Amino acid sequence: MEAKLKELKARLLEVSDLNAAAALLYWDQTTYMPPGGAPARARQIATLRRLAHEKFTDPAIGKLLDDLRLYEESLPYDSDDASLIRVTRRDYEKAIKVPPAFMAELSSHIAATYEVWAKARPANDFAAVQPYLEKTLDLSRQLANFFPGYEHIADPLIDFSDPGMTASAVSTLFAELRQQLAPIVQAITAQPPADDSCLHQAFPEAQQLAFGQEVIRRFGYDFRRGRQDKTHHPYMTKFSLGDVRITTRVKENDLGEALFSTMHEAGHALYEQGIRTEYEGTPLARGASSGIHESQSRLWENLVGRSLSFWRSFYPRLQAVFPDQLGNVSLETFYQAINKVERSLIRTDADEVTYNLHVIIRFELELALLEGQLTVRDLPEAWRERYEADLGIAPPDDRDGVLQDVHWYSGVIGGAFQGYTLGNIISAQFFEAALQAHPEIPAEIEQGEFGTLHTWLKEHIYQHGRKYMPAELIERVTGSPLTIEPYIRYLRTKYGELYQLQ
Ligand code: ZN
Repeated sequence: MEAKLKELKARLLEVSDLNAAAALLYWDQTTYMPPGGAPARARQIATLRRLAHEKFTDPAIGKLLDDLRLYEESLPYDSDDASLIRVTRRDYEKAIKVPPAFMAELSSHIAATYEVWAKARPANDFAAVQPYLEKTLDLSRQLANFFPGYEHIADPLIDFSDPGMTASAVSTLFAELRQQLAPIVQAITAQPPADDSCLHQAFPEAQQLAFGQEVIRRFGYDFRRGRQDKTHHPYMTKFSLGDVRITTRVKENDLGEALFSTMHEAGHALYEQGIRTEYEGTPLARGASSGIHESQSRLWENLVGRSLSFWRSFYPRLQAVFPDQLGNVSLETFYQAINKVERSLIRTDADEVTYNLHVIIRFELELALLEGQLTVRDLPEAWRERYEADLGIAPPDDRDGVLQDVHWYSGVIGGAFQGYTLGNIISAQFFEAALQAHPEIPAEIEQGEFGTLHTWLKEHIYQHGRKYMPAELIERVTGSPLTIEPYIRYLRTKYGELYQLQ
């Protein structure tokens, strides 16, 4: 058994190496590569991904997993070996269901769609991408149908990013959330908007980057096992547990842009840096799901980084970095500015309170498209209607409407968005559990100390990687299943004080 397990690990390590090489090529493409490298780079990445997929779906892996079944059953469920075999088997059984020829067709269609979208968005030209999106919808349905036995056609697609979640479970949760959010948004937007002009002055890039890095170093981000570079759309990437990188973008006239994206991506990176080193090179060495991952980026960005406790400690420091811009701006004014709530059109610019309404709209449109209740042709109009109904504001054009997010134009339709809102919900549930275990955390944050929080997250969440299913992890960490209650409590308390709501 030991020899077989060793062979399995050796094969998985090769898969991991190929994927890491592809990730490194992508990182280079989005940071330092000269534009002339683009065509070859796209092909090189595709080649490495294909080789990784071929190696992972090799029947020899299936045979090893079969041979190891009895060994797995003899071990405790949460032992490292049993977890490795279990998680690898789940991935393997999913991977072999999709024929390689279909994957190749899907990848090349997605690449072509992305090219068209990149031009169509600035040109406000939905008609140009419509036929591509129609084919994407068709391919998304085909992909789902490789996994028969689902209750809703979106279920297999949701399961790719949030294992164990279903359209029905997410819909129930989101309906409840929207109902709770609507009156909060109503009450806040009935008041005059917060003044956030203090964030929109000239803030030199170098100081912005240095301040952001100072903050995340204090969070616990390890620069000996990571680095930060500039890109167009910030993201976190990992080449090994010893090399977890983040990217950001800086706007000199918007202090929040780089600062909060830095905290956000560092939250993702803290998770990956905190995974047990024994899992290196295996399918366990990643976050549990997109929702759990997003819970960590949101926890550090919002629950910590947009809190009054945090800025009691860091605002004097920020004022010292930008004395001309912020010297005369009070902590209260700054705190209100970074938590300004407004009805807006762009998801990625939305505040904590309205953000989820943007996500819920997209999730429900995905379901309607997959069900055949909505055609791609009618999508822009459906988008406008939903924005009017849920956010009380409709986009004047498709550029800031249905064309704004890259997801449907660089992937499948289905499962693309729910993780963001699941992440917000889970972030509050985890944070509440951390505060119950360590009521001293807010006082420590006020002193600029994050050790207790970081250690707690590492111990209860980070170190496990993908050992547990998301639902199992939530139950283990908080003692209860996924629930919106802590998140609603958090929003009511914070924004109740900020906007003096009843
Ligand atoms: Zn994120």
